[in-house]
Amino acid sequence: MNLCTNYFSLKTDKNGVALLSLNRSEKRNALNEVFINELIHLLEEINNSTSIHVLMLAAKGDTFCSGVDLFDMHASSQLTQEKNQEKTQQLATLMKTLYQLKKPSIVLVNGPAFGAGVGLIACCDIAIATSNRSIYFCFSEINFHLTPAIISPYIIAAIGQRRAQYYFLSARCFNTEEAQQFSLIHDIVPKNKLHDYAYQIAEQLIEHDPKAVHEIKQLIRQHHPIEDSLVTDCAKRLAERRVSVQAQQALGAFTTNRSLKKVDAHKALIQQLRQQGISNEAVLNIMTKLSRTLFVPKEQQPYAYANKPLAIGHNQTISQPYIVALMTQVLLNKHDKIKKVLEIGTGSGYQAAILGYLADEVYTIERIFKLHQAAKKCFNQLKLHNIYSQYSDGKLGWAEHAPYDGIIVTAAAKELPQTLIEQLAPYGRLVIPLETDHNHQELYLIEKTAEDIQSTKIIDVRFVPLLPDVD
Ligand code: SAH
Repeated sequence: MNLCTNYFSLKTDKNGVALLSLNRSEKRNALNEVFINELIHLLEEINNSTSIHVLMLAAKGDTFCSGVDLFDMHASSQLTQEKNQEKTQQLATLMKTLYQLKKPSIVLVNGPAFGAGVGLIACCDIAIATSNRSIYFCFSEINFHLTPAIISPYIIAAIGQRRAQYYFLSARCFNTEEAQQFSLIHDIVPKNKLHDYAYQIAEQLIEHDPKAVHEIKQLIRQHHPIEDSLVTDCAKRLAERRVSVQAQQALGAFTTNRSLKKVDAHKALIQQLRQQGISNEAVLNIMTKLSRTLFVPKEQQPYAYANKPLAIGHNQTISQPYIVALMTQVLLNKHDKIKKVLEIGTGSGYQAAILGYLADEVYTIERIFKLHQAAKKCFNQLKLHNIYSQYSDGKLGWAEHAPYDGIIVTAAAKELPQTLIEQLAPYGRLVIPLETDHNHQELYLIEKTAEDIQSTKIIDVRFVPLLPDVD
C-alpha cells in the first residue's frame, strides 16, 4: 500500500513494513480533525491489510508532533456539546486504534512531542528517538487549563502514575535521555541512523509468526486493560474542559498572538512589558529592536514573542521577557547605560545581547559548551564585539576583569556566592535569584555600600538551578 495525502505518506516495502509519515510539518504535525480522521482510517487499513506486517510511524520536519491543533481546540467554544464530545471521542479513538493495532508498531521520534504527540509515542510498541539533546517532551495541557485526559491511560501505562503526576501537573519538559529513563523511549540512536535502525528492528519482527505477535500484544494489554468506559469518560472530561471559560481564554490569547504577524506580536509584547511595570525606556527600546527569534531553536520560533520562558535544549530555558526586562531595569538603576557587567548563565545569549547594547563591556559565563558556542555565534552575527564569553563555572566569577559595576545571575543559587560579591565594585549592583526554600525562589538586588551589603527582595521567580562545575 502506497499513498500520499496532504497530511500523510505511506510506503510499504516488499517485506510488509509500512512506513507511515506524518506530513504536516508546516504546522509542526499538529493534529486537527481531518488529520485525526485520516490517521484513524489509515490505521484501520493497516490493521486489516494482509500484506502489512509491521507499522513504522514517523514524522516529517523538525517536530514529531505538537499535539492537538490549538486553533482547532479554540474553535470548540463555538460548537455544541455533542459535536465537542464527538471530536474528543475521535482523538480517543485514534489513541485506542493505535494502541490496539494487531501488528507491531515502531515509532521514530525525530523531534519534540507535546500532549497528544507524546500519546502517539506511548501507544506504539517500540519507541526509538534520535540522540539530539534539544529534543524534548511536554504535557503542556495544563498551560492552557486543559488536562491530558485522553492520553493519560497510555502515558500512565508507559511511564507510571508517579511520574505522570509530576509531569502532568507541572508541564515540565523532559529530554530524550529522561524519556528513556521513564521507558517512554526504548532506544536512542544518531539522527542519520534512525530509519536504518527502525528497519533492522522491523526485519526481526517480521520473522515471527504474526499470530504469536498479536497474542503477545494482547497478553501485555491484558495486564493493563484500558476499558472502553475509561476511554469514553476521558473524552467526556476533555470536552468539558475545552469549553471552560479558563481554557477558552488561554487558547484565545495564544491563538490571537500566533495569528498576529511577528512584528505585531513583538509590539504586543513590549506593550505588555510596560503594563507590567517596565519603565526604563532604554531597556524597552533595545527589547523592541532586538529579535528574540534569533536566540530560540527553530521549533520555538513561533512563540518567540510570547511572554514566557522557552526551552533552548540541554534542559535549559531562555528567560521570560518580563524577567529579562525587570532584571536589566533593576541592574541599570534608572540609568540608560552601565559600564562593566558580568552575567552568569549565558544560555541562549539573549540577556547578554540586551546588555551588549546597554553596557560598555559585557562578560558572560556558561557551563554548557554547546550553549556557550551558539551564543557566541549570535553575538558575532549582531556584531556585538563588546561581549566576551567564557565556558566555565560562573560561581567563580571572572576575576581577571573585576570589579564589575553590575553582576546578573540568570540561574537560581542556593546561597549568595561570596566570590561574586568580592568581584562587585563599590556601589555595584548584583541581581540574583536565590532559592530561599525548597522549590521557592526570590529575585534579590544586592547593593554593595562602602561598609557592607544591602539586600532587597524584588519578586518571586522560577529559574533553572545554578549548577557547579562545567557540563
Ligand atoms: N540568560 C539566559 C538564561 C539561561 S538559563 C538567557 O537569556 O537565555 C540559565 C543558564 O545558566 C543555563 O544555560 C545554565 O546552563 C547556566 N548555568 C547554570 N549554572 C551555571 C554556572 N555555575 N556557571 C555558568 N552557567 C551556569
